[in-house]
Amino acid sequence: MAFTQDALDYGFNDLAPNFEASILEIHYGKHHAGYIAKLNAALEGTEFADMDLEDLIKNLDKVPANIRGGVRKNAGQHYNHSLYWKSLSPNGGGNPTGALGDAITAEFGSFDAFKEQFSNAAATQFGSGWAWLSVKDGKLVVSSTSNEDTPLMDGASPILTLDVWEHAYYLQFQNRRPDFIATFWNVVNWENANALYAAAK
Ligand code: MN
Repeated sequence: MAFTQDALDYGFNDLAPNFEASILEIHYGKHHAGYIAKLNAALEGTEFADMDLEDLIKNLDKVPANIRGGVRKNAGQHYNHSLYWKSLSPNGGGNPTGALGDAITAEFGSFDAFKEQFSNAAATQFGSGWAWLSVKDGKLVVSSTSNEDTPLMDGASPILTLDVWEHAYYLQFQNRRPDFIATFWNVVNWENANALYAAAK
């Protein structure tokens, strides 16, 4: 069973006017799908072809050295994009509720303080990369990573991510990454983040 792309939980037009279809359709259908195709091609016929994606990323050191670089890039990107689509929702936005909302207030001081820290991580990531909210050792952690890197590679459990590669926003926001980040808060999927938080704790 090769790696596959989950269907989106919403249509390409369902996040508009916040995120227009232009920054979802090619991103999902070409960029993300392309990473999966390359991952499957690299692993075809190997013992890693059927592996669980998270297990593969946690065991990259066991992948043969001659294909490891490509597998790392494409597996990381597949994992990151899969969480990114789940981090967005037509019913998203607002303040985080439930256990995650309480933990954000307890650990960052307030939702606004958390939002500023996450937005800053997204804005200051130089070049291609990602902003994250993860659980590590039972605590919430905000971070950013470059290229295909993911906190999963450092033993954390990511629960929310924002793709800040230019391909994620250029067609709608051009070079205005801060506008893209500000708009993300209107469609952020707290329900999914809460579920992942409960699982990670
Ligand atoms: Mn992307």
